[in-house]
Amino acid sequence: MTDGIVFNIQRYSIDDGPGIRTTVFLKGCPLRCPWCSNPESQSVAPQLFHRHTSCVKCGACAAGCPAGALRLTEDAIVIDREKCEAHGACEECKICVDACVNGALEIKGGKMTVQQVWKVIRRDAVYYETSGGGVTCSGGEILSQPDFTSAIFKKCREEGIHTCADTSGFGTRAALDKILDYTDLVYFDLKHPDPRLHLEHIGVDSGVILDNLRRVSERGVATTLRLPLIPEYNNSPEAIEALAHIAKQYAPDAAVSILPYHRYGENKYQALGMRYPLAELRENTASELDAAKVIFEKHGFKCEVSK
Ligand code: SF4
Ligand code: SF4
Repeated sequence: MTDGIVFNIQRYSIDDGPGIRTTVFLKGCPLRCPWCSNPESQSVAPQLFHRHTSCVKCGACAAGCPAGALRLTEDAIVIDREKCEAHGACEECKICVDACVNGALEIKGGKMTVQQVWKVIRRDAVYYETSGGGVTCSGGEILSQPDFTSAIFKKCREEGIHTCADTSGFGTRAALDKILDYTDLVYFDLKHPDPRLHLEHIGVDSGVILDNLRRVSERGVATTLRLPLIPEYNNSPEAIEALAHIAKQYAPDAAVSILPYHRYGENKYQALGMRYPLAELRENTASELDAAKVIFEKHGFKCEVSK
Protein backbone atom coordinates (compact mmCIF):
# COMPACT_ATOMS: atom_id res chain seq x y z
CA MET A 1 0.00 0.00 0.00
CA THR A 2 1.43 3.42 -0.98
CA ASP A 3 1.78 5.93 1.86
CA GLY A 4 1.90 9.69 1.57
CA ILE A 5 2.35 12.65 3.90
CA VAL A 6 -0.83 14.73 4.07
CA PHE A 7 -1.54 17.86 6.11
CA ASN A 8 -5.18 18.42 5.24
CA ILE A 9 -8.08 16.99 3.28
CA GLN A 10 -10.56 19.71 2.42
CA ARG A 11 -14.06 18.56 1.52
CA TYR A 12 -16.60 20.74 -0.36
CA SER A 13 -13.86 22.84 -1.89
CA ILE A 14 -14.96 25.18 -4.70
CA ASP A 15 -11.66 26.96 -5.45
CA ASP A 16 -9.44 24.06 -6.52
CA GLY A 17 -10.95 23.12 -9.88
CA PRO A 18 -14.41 22.78 -11.43
CA GLY A 19 -17.46 21.95 -9.31
CA ILE A 20 -17.45 20.70 -5.75
CA ARG A 21 -14.19 18.94 -4.94
CA THR A 22 -12.20 17.17 -2.28
CA THR A 23 -8.70 18.61 -2.13
CA VAL A 24 -5.90 16.49 -0.72
CA PHE A 25 -3.04 18.70 0.50
CA LEU A 26 0.32 16.91 0.50
CA LYS A 27 3.08 18.00 2.87
CA GLY A 28 6.59 18.89 1.70
CA CYS A 29 7.68 21.39 -0.95
CA PRO A 30 11.11 22.20 -2.45
CA LEU A 31 10.08 25.80 -3.20
CA ARG A 32 10.07 28.68 -0.73
CA CYS A 33 7.70 31.27 -2.16
CA PRO A 34 7.71 34.18 0.33
CA TRP A 35 3.94 34.67 -0.20
CA CYS A 36 3.07 31.03 0.55
CA SER A 37 -0.31 30.92 2.29
CA ASN A 38 0.18 27.34 3.50
CA PRO A 39 3.47 27.45 5.44
CA GLU A 40 2.55 24.15 7.08
CA SER A 41 2.95 22.58 3.63
CA GLN A 42 6.65 23.41 3.28
CA SER A 43 8.35 20.96 5.62
CA VAL A 44 7.67 17.29 5.10
CA ALA A 45 7.91 16.73 8.87
CA PRO A 46 4.84 16.93 11.13
CA GLN A 47 4.69 20.28 12.97
CA LEU A 48 3.13 21.53 16.19
CA PHE A 49 0.56 24.23 15.41
CA HIS A 50 -0.54 26.61 18.18
CA ARG A 51 -3.68 28.73 17.69
CA HIS A 52 -3.02 31.72 19.92
CA THR A 53 -6.61 32.92 19.73
CA SER A 54 -7.91 29.65 21.22
CA CYS A 55 -5.31 29.46 24.01
CA VAL A 56 -6.48 30.45 27.51
CA LYS A 57 -2.95 30.08 28.95
CA CYS A 58 -3.95 27.39 31.43
CA GLY A 59 -0.58 25.60 31.20
CA ALA A 60 -2.03 22.07 31.00
CA CYS A 61 0.03 21.33 27.90
CA ALA A 62 3.29 22.43 29.53
CA ALA A 63 2.65 20.35 32.63
CA GLY A 64 2.49 17.15 30.60
CA CYS A 65 5.27 17.70 28.07
CA PRO A 66 7.93 15.02 28.63
CA ALA A 67 10.57 17.05 26.77
CA GLY A 68 10.17 20.30 28.72
CA ALA A 69 9.46 21.95 25.38
CA LEU A 70 6.54 24.08 26.59
CA ARG A 71 6.74 26.93 29.07
CA LEU A 72 3.90 29.11 30.36
CA THR A 73 4.85 32.76 30.75
CA GLU A 74 2.60 35.65 31.81
CA ASP A 75 1.75 36.34 28.17
CA ALA A 76 1.80 33.07 26.32
CA ILE A 77 2.84 29.48 25.92
CA VAL A 78 6.40 29.44 24.60
CA ILE A 79 7.33 26.47 22.42
CA ASP A 80 10.91 25.24 22.16
CA ARG A 81 10.54 23.44 18.83
CA GLU A 82 14.06 22.00 18.91
CA LYS A 83 13.35 20.25 22.21
CA CYS A 84 10.04 18.98 20.86
CA GLU A 85 11.66 17.65 17.70
CA ALA A 86 14.57 16.14 19.62
CA HIS A 87 12.02 14.22 21.66
CA GLY A 88 10.81 12.66 18.41
CA ALA A 89 7.55 14.62 18.45
CA CYS A 90 5.20 15.43 16.70
CA GLU A 91 4.14 12.27 14.93
CA GLU A 92 4.52 10.06 17.97
CA CYS A 93 3.95 12.22 21.03
CA LYS A 94 0.88 14.50 20.89
CA ILE A 95 0.65 14.58 24.70
CA CYS A 96 0.20 18.36 24.67
CA VAL A 97 -2.48 18.15 21.98
CA ASP A 98 -4.48 15.68 24.04
CA ALA A 99 -4.00 17.82 27.16
CA CYS A 100 -5.48 20.93 25.56
CA VAL A 101 -9.26 20.91 25.96
CA ASN A 102 -9.52 24.17 23.99
CA GLY A 103 -8.25 22.73 20.72
CA ALA A 104 -5.43 25.28 20.60
CA LEU A 105 -2.81 22.69 19.68
CA GLU A 106 -2.71 20.46 16.63
CA ILE A 107 -0.12 18.36 14.86
CA LYS A 108 -0.07 19.36 11.20
CA GLY A 109 0.75 16.48 8.89
CA GLY A 110 1.08 12.75 9.07
CA LYS A 111 1.21 9.56 7.07
CA MET A 112 -1.89 8.31 5.27
CA THR A 113 -2.43 5.37 2.97
CA VAL A 114 -4.22 5.69 -0.34
CA GLN A 115 -7.02 3.63 1.14
CA GLN A 116 -7.46 6.10 4.03
CA VAL A 117 -7.60 9.03 1.62
CA TRP A 118 -10.00 7.15 -0.62
CA LYS A 119 -12.39 6.60 2.29
CA VAL A 120 -12.70 10.38 2.64
CA ILE A 121 -12.95 10.99 -1.12
CA ARG A 122 -15.75 8.53 -1.77
CA ARG A 123 -18.05 10.10 0.85
CA ASP A 124 -18.77 12.99 -1.52
CA ALA A 125 -19.11 11.05 -4.77
CA VAL A 126 -22.67 12.30 -5.23
CA TYR A 127 -21.51 15.94 -5.06
CA TYR A 128 -18.81 15.37 -7.68
CA GLU A 129 -21.39 13.91 -10.01
CA THR A 130 -24.05 16.57 -9.55
CA SER A 131 -21.67 19.56 -9.64
CA GLY A 132 -19.15 18.42 -12.25
CA GLY A 133 -16.52 18.32 -9.53
CA GLY A 134 -13.94 15.78 -8.45
CA VAL A 135 -10.65 15.44 -6.63
CA THR A 136 -7.67 17.80 -6.55
CA CYS A 137 -4.23 16.93 -5.22
CA SER A 138 -2.37 20.03 -4.10
CA GLY A 139 0.47 20.89 -1.78
CA GLY A 140 3.05 21.24 -0.80
CA GLU A 141 4.30 19.82 -4.04
CA ILE A 142 2.62 16.77 -5.55
CA LEU A 143 5.65 16.03 -7.76
CA SER A 144 7.54 15.23 -4.55
CA GLN A 145 5.06 12.39 -3.89
CA PRO A 146 4.34 11.00 -7.37
CA ASP A 147 3.51 7.42 -6.41
CA PHE A 148 0.96 8.51 -3.81
CA THR A 149 -0.65 11.15 -6.04
CA SER A 150 -0.76 8.82 -9.01
CA ALA A 151 -2.34 6.04 -6.95
CA ILE A 152 -5.07 8.39 -5.67
CA PHE A 153 -5.81 9.61 -9.20
CA LYS A 154 -5.80 6.07 -10.62
CA LYS A 155 -8.44 5.08 -8.09
CA CYS A 156 -10.48 8.16 -9.04
CA ARG A 157 -10.23 7.29 -12.74
CA GLU A 158 -11.45 3.77 -12.07
CA GLU A 159 -14.53 5.29 -10.40
CA GLY A 160 -15.07 7.99 -13.06
CA ILE A 161 -14.07 10.88 -10.77
CA HIS A 162 -12.45 13.95 -12.38
CA THR A 163 -8.85 14.65 -11.26
CA CYS A 164 -6.95 17.93 -11.01
CA ALA A 165 -3.20 18.13 -10.32
CA ASP A 166 -2.18 21.43 -8.69
CA THR A 167 1.60 21.82 -9.09
CA SER A 168 4.49 24.28 -9.10
CA GLY A 169 5.93 22.16 -11.90
CA PHE A 170 9.17 21.53 -10.03
CA GLY A 171 10.05 17.83 -10.05
CA THR A 172 11.38 15.10 -12.29
CA ARG A 173 9.96 14.22 -15.70
CA ALA A 174 9.28 10.70 -14.46
CA ALA A 175 7.24 12.04 -11.51
CA LEU A 176 5.25 14.30 -13.80
CA ASP A 177 4.51 11.55 -16.31
CA LYS A 178 3.39 9.17 -13.58
CA ILE A 179 0.81 11.69 -12.36
CA LEU A 180 -0.29 12.86 -15.82
CA ASP A 181 -1.28 9.29 -16.72
CA TYR A 182 -4.37 9.77 -14.52
CA THR A 183 -4.87 13.57 -14.64
CA ASP A 184 -7.77 15.37 -16.34
CA LEU A 185 -6.74 18.95 -15.55
CA VAL A 186 -3.45 20.56 -14.47
CA TYR A 187 -3.21 23.74 -12.42
CA PHE A 188 0.33 24.90 -13.18
CA ASP A 189 1.97 27.90 -11.47
CA LEU A 190 3.90 30.59 -13.33
CA LYS A 191 5.83 32.90 -11.02
CA HIS A 192 8.61 34.95 -12.61
CA PRO A 193 10.00 35.22 -16.14
CA ASP A 194 13.59 35.96 -15.07
CA PRO A 195 15.47 32.74 -14.19
CA ARG A 196 17.91 34.60 -11.93
CA LEU A 197 15.15 36.28 -9.87
CA HIS A 198 13.17 33.04 -9.81
CA LEU A 199 16.12 31.23 -8.26
CA GLU A 200 16.89 34.09 -5.88
CA HIS A 201 13.36 34.51 -4.50
CA ILE A 202 11.94 30.99 -4.73
CA GLY A 203 15.04 28.86 -4.48
CA VAL A 204 14.65 26.61 -7.54
CA ASP A 205 15.57 26.59 -11.24
CA SER A 206 12.71 27.80 -13.43
CA GLY A 207 14.17 25.84 -16.39
CA VAL A 208 13.00 22.58 -14.81
CA ILE A 209 9.52 24.04 -14.42
CA LEU A 210 9.31 25.24 -18.01
CA ASP A 211 10.50 21.88 -19.36
CA ASN A 212 7.71 20.27 -17.39
CA LEU A 213 5.19 22.81 -18.64
CA ARG A 214 6.13 21.90 -22.20
CA ARG A 215 5.68 18.23 -21.30
CA VAL A 216 2.16 18.88 -19.99
CA SER A 217 1.31 20.59 -23.30
CA GLU A 218 2.84 17.75 -25.34
CA ARG A 219 0.68 15.27 -23.49
CA GLY A 220 -2.42 17.30 -24.29
CA VAL A 221 -3.73 17.53 -20.72
CA ALA A 222 -6.07 20.50 -20.16
CA THR A 223 -4.15 23.20 -18.30
CA THR A 224 -4.83 26.35 -16.35
CA LEU A 225 -1.78 28.51 -15.72
CA ARG A 226 -1.96 30.19 -12.34
CA LEU A 227 -0.09 33.44 -11.83
CA PRO A 228 0.21 34.76 -8.26
CA LEU A 229 0.45 38.51 -8.82
CA ILE A 230 2.83 39.78 -6.16
CA PRO A 231 3.53 43.51 -5.71
CA GLU A 232 7.23 44.38 -6.06
CA TYR A 233 7.96 40.90 -7.41
CA ASN A 234 6.16 40.17 -10.68
CA ASN A 235 3.43 42.81 -11.10
CA SER A 236 5.24 45.20 -13.47
CA PRO A 237 3.79 45.36 -17.01
CA GLU A 238 7.18 44.16 -18.32
CA ALA A 239 7.19 41.06 -16.10
CA ILE A 240 3.57 40.20 -16.96
CA GLU A 241 4.25 40.71 -20.67
CA ALA A 242 7.26 38.38 -20.42
CA LEU A 243 5.18 35.77 -18.58
CA ALA A 244 2.53 35.96 -21.32
CA HIS A 245 5.25 35.31 -23.91
CA ILE A 246 6.45 32.29 -21.90
CA ALA A 247 2.87 31.03 -21.67
CA LYS A 248 2.48 31.36 -25.46
CA GLN A 249 5.72 29.49 -26.06
CA TYR A 250 5.18 26.63 -23.61
CA ALA A 251 1.41 26.25 -23.15
CA PRO A 252 -0.43 28.13 -25.92
CA ASP A 253 -3.73 26.32 -25.32
CA ALA A 254 -3.87 26.92 -21.58
CA ALA A 255 -6.37 29.10 -19.75
CA VAL A 256 -4.91 31.66 -17.33
CA SER A 257 -5.97 32.52 -13.82
CA ILE A 258 -4.47 35.49 -11.99
CA LEU A 259 -4.24 35.00 -8.23
CA PRO A 260 -4.26 38.24 -6.22
CA TYR A 261 -1.75 38.49 -3.38
CA HIS A 262 -3.42 38.19 0.01
CA ARG A 263 -2.24 37.69 3.57
CA TYR A 264 -4.61 34.87 4.53
CA GLY A 265 -1.73 32.67 5.69
CA GLU A 266 -0.14 35.20 8.03
CA ASN A 267 -1.63 33.78 11.26
CA LYS A 268 -0.39 30.32 10.34
CA TYR A 269 3.21 31.54 10.37
CA GLN A 270 2.72 32.69 13.97
CA ALA A 271 1.09 29.38 14.89
CA LEU A 272 4.11 27.50 13.52
CA GLY A 273 6.68 29.81 15.13
CA MET A 274 7.77 31.09 11.70
CA ARG A 275 8.42 34.65 10.57
CA TYR A 276 6.02 35.99 7.93
CA PRO A 277 8.40 37.16 5.19
CA LEU A 278 6.15 39.80 3.58
CA ALA A 279 4.90 41.67 6.65
CA GLU A 280 5.30 45.06 4.96
CA LEU A 281 3.88 44.18 1.56
CA ARG A 282 0.66 45.84 0.32
CA GLU A 283 -2.09 43.98 -1.53
CA ASN A 284 -2.80 44.43 -5.28
CA THR A 285 -4.86 47.31 -6.56
CA ALA A 286 -7.88 46.50 -8.76
CA SER A 287 -6.24 48.30 -11.69
CA GLU A 288 -3.09 46.12 -11.42
CA LEU A 289 -5.19 42.98 -11.58
CA ASP A 290 -7.19 44.29 -14.55
CA ALA A 291 -4.00 45.33 -16.36
CA ALA A 292 -2.52 41.84 -15.97
CA LYS A 293 -5.72 40.27 -17.32
CA VAL A 294 -5.71 42.62 -20.33
CA ILE A 295 -2.11 41.66 -21.17
CA PHE A 296 -2.91 37.93 -21.23
CA GLU A 297 -6.11 38.52 -23.22
CA LYS A 298 -4.15 40.58 -25.73
CA HIS A 299 -2.00 37.48 -26.29
CA GLY A 300 -5.10 35.40 -26.99
CA PHE A 301 -5.53 33.69 -23.60
CA LYS A 302 -8.82 33.17 -21.82
CA CYS A 303 -8.00 34.85 -18.52
CA GLU A 304 -9.80 35.40 -15.23
CA VAL A 305 -8.88 37.05 -11.95
CA SER A 306 -9.49 34.70 -9.01
CA LYS A 307 -10.94 35.87 -5.70
S1 SF4 B 1 4.45 17.03 20.98
FE1 SF4 B 1 5.19 16.09 22.90
S2 SF4 B 1 7.33 16.80 23.07
FE2 SF4 B 1 6.33 18.13 21.57
S3 SF4 B 1 5.62 19.89 22.76
FE3 SF4 B 1 3.91 18.42 22.66
S4 SF4 B 1 4.10 17.19 24.53
FE4 SF4 B 1 6.06 18.24 24.22
S1 SF4 C 1 -3.42 23.49 27.18
FE1 SF4 C 1 -4.19 24.63 25.37
S2 SF4 C 1 -5.23 26.42 26.22
FE2 SF4 C 1 -3.91 25.57 27.88
S3 SF4 C 1 -1.99 26.73 27.65
FE3 SF4 C 1 -1.75 24.85 26.47
S4 SF4 C 1 -2.37 25.47 24.38
FE4 SF4 C 1 -3.12 27.03 25.76
